[in-house]
Amino acid sequence: MVMGIVIIVTSILTYSIGTRYNSDPESVVLVVLLMTAFLLILSFIITSSFERLAEANRLKSEFVSIVSHQIRSPLTNLKWIVELLMSGILGKIEGKQGEYFKILKENTERMQELVNELLTVSRIEATKLVFKREPFALEKIAGDLVEEFKPIAKSSNIQLEFTAEKNLPKVFADPFQILQVMENLLYNAIRYTAAAFNDGKDKNNGKITVRIFKKRNSVVCEITDNGIGIPKDDKKFIFQKFFRAGNVRRYQAGGSGLGLYICKSIIEKSNGRIGFSSKENSGSTFWFSLPIAK
Ligand code: ADP
Repeated sequence: MVMGIVIIVTSILTYSIGTRYNSDPESVVLVVLLMTAFLLILSFIITSSFERLAEANRLKSEFVSIVSHQIRSPLTNLKWIVELLMSGILGKIEGKQGEYFKILKENTERMQELVNELLTVSRIEATKLVFKREPFALEKIAGDLVEEFKPIAKSSNIQLEFTAEKNLPKVFADPFQILQVMENLLYNAIRYTAAAFNDGKDKNNGKITVRIFKKRNSVVCEITDNGIGIPKDDKKFIFQKFFRAGNVRRYQAGGSGLGLYICKSIIEKSNGRIGFSSKENSGSTFWFSLPIAK
């Protein structure tokens, strides 16, 4: 855009100088030459600064990736040792020790999640995330996932329901990556619904519905909750890296703001679409669609 404006301005300048001094062709040629040289230098400066920016971005992704890899093994060791201590094999757990071990374990798990998310983001940015495409039944992996999540939802007093249209066609994508997306969306729905109902509302009214249905030439997965919702002014930033809405920060300490960025990247790479609708204090619906397998 900047280059476009510069080219238009210099063309107008050259034209007006040319028409003003048309009695002196040498001066006009000189002006045109000077303008061309100026444009060349300017485009060189702009291109090289973009190249430097791209290089800095590449180095940043590489740095994040290396650091995340290095942190992963000590974290796994740490979690393993905490679990061993908690098991009581090495000695009886007394007093408040159990409670502190539990906090240690939860924090180690949170760090592991963050490191894994950072690694996925750096793979996405370096276009190294591997996608294997195949036809599969979206409703099957969604149904299994809902069953897996039911105990977690129940422990937060949330009713989790699943419905799928009959005779749905298969979708064409990577089932492993799509499972990550669904896990992320469902986990968010549970956390941000539990946050609302632990905050003074009736403790038994948390409800999440997962629906799978066909729409035109795609199959849609829709997750609706009646949790804390998203404030109006925050909606436009929701798929940005590291973004967390203002109300979430008030309710919960945990979370990286990377999950939805990862979901969006995966769905777009799978030729699908992703979106949401939400109202603060009422709830949210997150959905994604995937192309039907031919
Ligand atoms: P995280 O949940 O770790 O903060 P995400 O990228 O998954 O990161 O989500 C980004 C933000 O989007 C959240 O911090 C929250 O503000 C908002 N959000 C996502 N899902 C929901 C939901 N179901 N209900 C309310 N807010 C949500």
